Amino acid sequence: MFPGPKYTLAWGNTRRQEWDLSRGDPIEKLAGVLTGARKVAVLSGAGLSAESGVPTFRGKEGLWKQRNPVELATPEAFRADPELVWEFYNWRRQKILGVEPNPAHVALADLERRVPAFVHVTQNIDGLARRAGGENIIELHGNLFSTRCFECGREQPDLSGPVPFPTSCERCGGLVRPGVVWFGEPVPLLEDAIESLRDADLLFVVGTSAVVQPAASLAMVCKSAGAFVAEFNIEATPLSGRLDLQIVGPVGTTLPRVVARAFAGG
Ligand SMILES: [Zn+2]
Repeated sequence: MFPGPKYTLAWGNTRRQEWDLSRGDPIEKLAGVLTGARKVAVLSGAGLSAESGVPTFRGKEGLWKQRNPVELATPEAFRADPELVWEFYNWRRQKILGVEPNPAHVALADLERRVPAFVHVTQNIDGLARRAGGENIIELHGNLFSTRCFECGREQPDLSGPVPFPTSCERCGGLVRPGVVWFGEPVPLLEDAIESLRDADLLFVVGTSAVVQPAASLAMVCKSAGAFVAEFNIEATPLSGRLDLQIVGPVGTTLPRVVARAFAGG
């Protein structure tokens, strides 16, 4: 499961250490890497929130009112039937308001407080990492609990329950839409994410496959800058040869173990 015997971990431009991960418990070894890291980055996807019970919209169970959610998450769908799209997003908001952050979210927030520098780039729009106490989070695909004007782009946090339809923009009177990034739309924070990942010593890829986009290219930013890349996932994903370590299991179990092992007694 684990690639070759010798790994090189680049510590920014200051020092370089070699780690032998070929023997022993990978969680213990990774905890050792974590203890010495200056900047830790996390790249997360749906698998981070799965143990909280957040719907993934994959397969048959992913249908909403016999509709494929992928077809509702587009600007075209909003133009055609904004009320239906809002009904879908209000349903999602209600779902998320009814679940709690899981131990993986809590472990990441804990980690953020313990390392000198930290950034969490997430593809999730559920806001659960923030609710767990995380602070330096880049939400690549926006946040379910924000709204954006469909006309002028004005963004506003909206943490309450359902958003009434129609809601008009206070600035221009345009129709307000969910503050998320839809299929076919550019990702406005992508450059910020790339910049934030460049100087990380260590990257955790959590609950998203490092062989699909945009996780793959973001992981490569770290890797090519010399970071150590560890993947946490419920199941083995195809190793692209880019990862240094793969930890398979429920992330609500494996992540807390790594953080606890690294900072035991701290
Ligand atoms: Zn507006």
